[in-house]
Amino acid sequence: MFKEYIYLTDLSPSQIEAVKKFNNNLDIKYEKLITCEICSSKNFKVLFNNDRYGISQKTCLCKNCGLMFSNPRMTKRSNKLFYKSDLYRLIYEPSVKNIDKEELFKSTLKEMRDYKPSIPKKPVFNNYYSNLYFDFINKEIKDFKTVLDIGCGKGKKLVDFKSIGKKTYGIEPSEVYHKVHSELGLNSKIGFIEDVEDKSDLVLLTHVFEHLSDLKKNANLLCNITNKYLFIEVPGHINKLQSIQNAHNYYFSFNTLNYFFLNNKFKLIKIDYARDNEYIFALYKKTDKKSEMMFDKASELNNVSRITRKYFFTYIITKTLKFIKIERVLRNFYSKIKKKFNLN
Ligand SMILES: [Zn+2]
Repeated sequence: MFKEYIYLTDLSPSQIEAVKKFNNNLDIKYEKLITCEICSSKNFKVLFNNDRYGISQKTCLCKNCGLMFSNPRMTKRSNKLFYKSDLYRLIYEPSVKNIDKEELFKSTLKEMRDYKPSIPKKPVFNNYYSNLYFDFINKEIKDFKTVLDIGCGKGKKLVDFKSIGKKTYGIEPSEVYHKVHSELGLNSKIGFIEDVEDKSDLVLLTHVFEHLSDLKKNANLLCNITNKYLFIEVPGHINKLQSIQNAHNYYFSFNTLNYFFLNNKFKLIKIDYARDNEYIFALYKKTDKKSEMMFDKASELNNVSRITRKYFFTYIITKTLKFIKIERVLRNFYSKIKKKFNLN
């Protein structure tokens, strides 16, 4: 029903070119999900045919339980290629025209040298801010010594936790960022989630879980490398749909995110969300035995249909208002011309 109704981001010429290349890139392979990862249903409906950059990527909804996901999606290998090649920066960032690794290294190193670690304070969920994760975690837990950040990016979280006396370790696919970490004396390794070898007291995954696939397997993997706590931050949908992006394999609510951990050896400490961008913050504690979560399919489906309906109406109204405004401008212009040349 919504398929083509998607807000497209205004793209720079270099982004348009990168999207075109990506859509025609034969090295990027896709795989089709046959059954839902929560309820095993095969009953899906397509919500969107492309993402907000214009990349051909279908977004589906499981009609039985309400899980939203990309399908077909990039294979694991293609996903890795996408991130390792820094291709994603050409698409997502308007000013990046080519990948100059030396330049990226220099600018990131400068940014990180100027970075002041965050001081934990009371978390405020009204408006998202970059250190909200740090305030949230430190308010809830204190008894941890080692921190692992999976997909640690430039390394800001490693700096934050190091500054409060924790032993930190990061894992990150980008070679350039890894080089920056080495320069700054931050402990890190090039790789992905499956390359983690040691256990840590606290494991962080910030905007990573939605990029993975086979979530039950990955929840198991996370359980094996966590000593005590697991922190997850993902874009969520609480009252509105998140923007659709090709590399996001899943779109989570509280329920669908909790499902993967509360059916494993984790119990929930706290889950909350930033009221403006609806990013979800979840903190879990590892337990001795596997628990079971009652997943309320009916309420999940109700909620998803409420927010997709809301999305649809907002889309139609916004487009109509834009159209009317253009029409008014044209009408004014036409009447001015008529007046000037005394036409009638
Ligand atoms: Zn399902």
